[in-house]
Amino acid sequence: MKKNDIINLDITAIASQGSGIGRCGGMAVFVPAACVGDVLEVKILKVEKNCAYGRIERIIEASPDRIVPDCPAFPQCGGCDFRHMSYDAECAAKRQRVADAMKRIGGVDMDVEEYLRASDPDRYRNKAQLPYAMTKNGARFGFYAERSHRVVPCDDCLLQPEHFSHIAAAADEFFKKSGNEPYDETTGKGRIRHLFMRASETTGETVVCVVVNGNGIKDEPGFVDAVRAASDRVTGVVININREDTNVILGKKSRIAWGSDTITDRLCGMDFIISVKSFFQVNRTQAERLYKKAAEYAALSGEETLIDLYCGTGTIGLSMAHDAKQLIGVEIIPEAIENANKNAERNGVCNARFICADAAKAAAQLRAEGVAPDVIILDPPRKGCAQELIETVAQMSPDRVVYISCDPATLARDIKRFTELGYHPQRLCAADLFPRTRHVESVCLLSKK
Ligand code: SAH
Repeated sequence: MKKNDIINLDITAIASQGSGIGRCGGMAVFVPAACVGDVLEVKILKVEKNCAYGRIERIIEASPDRIVPDCPAFPQCGGCDFRHMSYDAECAAKRQRVADAMKRIGGVDMDVEEYLRASDPDRYRNKAQLPYAMTKNGARFGFYAERSHRVVPCDDCLLQPEHFSHIAAAADEFFKKSGNEPYDETTGKGRIRHLFMRASETTGETVVCVVVNGNGIKDEPGFVDAVRAASDRVTGVVININREDTNVILGKKSRIAWGSDTITDRLCGMDFIISVKSFFQVNRTQAERLYKKAAEYAALSGEETLIDLYCGTGTIGLSMAHDAKQLIGVEIIPEAIENANKNAERNGVCNARFICADAAKAAAQLRAEGVAPDVIILDPPRKGCAQELIETVAQMSPDRVVYISCDPATLARDIKRFTELGYHPQRLCAADLFPRTRHVESVCLLSKK
């Protein structure tokens, strides 16, 4: 097989990065926007040692799972992976992926006992980060194409609330009129890098943050007026300063141009204050269902010491704190810890304390102090837990570990290590927090017995 070959391919599975997989001459061929059951004419774009990558030239026979994509930016924009597939088929593929990872990487043959589907797979995101860049049609907001920094414009992303599109359109118009040029990564010139928006699903409050290469934007009051006129949900406008040559979106310093720099959202019956820099699950409704499952696995009776590692603004631990004796949360971002302390106070939680530190270091420190947790919650970023943290957790000997993960592969890898240390997975559930994309969230209960 070589580049530019045209082959016929039966798609038999969906890969973890969202592509369909078929086999040709013993080689796996990955094809984006394909469904299991498709028979395709595929053009080979790249051949590697053990696999190849291709593009659909023609659909010879369409899978019964296939639907007509309802977004003009799909699949170029790099956001959705599954707009060509029924939601049923997407859920089945993602559930299978979690079970497969556990088996292949984790060495554990266990069922995903429940897959929590979203009641609405569209308009669920409460956060947007839109790059601003020069395109062939002038400066535009959009999304980065897969594995690239080429901006693909998208006037109304179906994963986001509609008012985000109105705000982005108003910002675009204002920047053009006021001479605020887009930032150019190659030259380091130009001012506007990203438009960051975060909305509260329950209160509607929306913070609009412009990331700038400089100290501010030209005609800041004019910008505030423009975005407020675009949506009456805007409750704050923030300027974030990022002059570094970096892929990290937000710079270190922010200031308020108007209103408030936080929003308040409700999760599991509690209010959470969230600032621009803090992590908050992008799909609130589904996060709530996932956290309820985590609480079921934690099975607290009111007597326990609970440690919530990678706690963000404290959401998971605080939602369980009333059923525990004490809660200790650990998180590395100072702004999130500030939010967590305020969130404890606001919700009348008096038995919690939060530590701003690396999770592995803080866990080792807590162990050295003789803290004996009954339940430990882990909710690391995609790369999973630090290996030394897994060892410290096992040494602290909690009755139960509840591991929440946004990557089945690193979850399975970490579970394998836990198994070697005497902790075994007991229950596993997955939730669709990111419909229409390849991403899937899971929660696993581990214990010694
Ligand atoms: N449990 C929270 C946040 C989960 S996201 C919630 O559900 O809202 C993962 C969190 O881990 C992020 O807040 C991130 O800032 C934090 N984090 C990343 N690396 C870390 C580390 N080494 N130590 C502690 N926290 C870390």
